[in-house]
Amino acid sequence: MTRALHAVLVVEDEPQLRALLRTTLEAAGYRVIEAETARRAVVEARTHKPDLALVDLGLPDADGIDVIRAVREFSSLPVIVLSARAQEHEKVAALDAGADDYVTKPFGVGELLARVRGALRRGAQVADADGSVVVIGDWALDLARRTTRNPATGATLHLTPIEFRIVTVLAQHAGRVVTHRQLLRDVWGPEAVERPEYLRNFIKQLRNKLERDPARPRHLVTEIGVGYRLEVAGDDSPA
Ligand code: CA
Repeated sequence: MTRALHAVLVVEDEPQLRALLRTTLEAAGYRVIEAETARRAVVEARTHKPDLALVDLGLPDADGIDVIRAVREFSSLPVIVLSARAQEHEKVAALDAGADDYVTKPFGVGELLARVRGALRRGAQVADADGSVVVIGDWALDLARRTTRNPATGATLHLTPIEFRIVTVLAQHAGRVVTHRQLLRDVWGPEAVERPEYLRNFIKQLRNKLERDPARPRHLVTEIGVGYRLEVAGDDSPA
């Protein structure tokens, strides 16, 4: 069986890092397309239709966020942001602009490849799964029917409408970071985007209900200063 290689667009102006990314990705079996400017990145994304893009936030001619906004106008391809520590706040803006995930420089090759695999896998899932049942630990949540059941024991669990909405929004972006702003906007509406305290209590409640060990959540994961991430296929065994 032959399988087309996944094409990854690498948008990075630093030649050494770009070369490292190329070597790493090619060794892992990906085809690499390079762009060293924002302008070039948008052209390459349009013409080559890559399966995924890695986008550096600091580019010579524009901000990486501008690349994401431009690409989102014609493509839903997974985008992973490469951000330096000094760009922490921009990372959130990049996620709000439509990035799927981020990796902070300096990063390990293993971490980068894991994020790439994850983003490609989710891209495929979004394309073909109906996504109405989400499994979190022991619980299967039917988001359409709004029921929560433990398939092993048959036990049921009550979640409030807001709790269901939070899980639904997180599940729509499973495995990816959803920013506080995005969650607040999608669950409570645009007037709530500056009220992250709304979220904290609800997430705590959800962890108490759904996580095996609410103090060490495996599924409703905090991304400090950024938002939350739902890991559906997470391992429940102790680390
Ligand atoms: Ca740069």
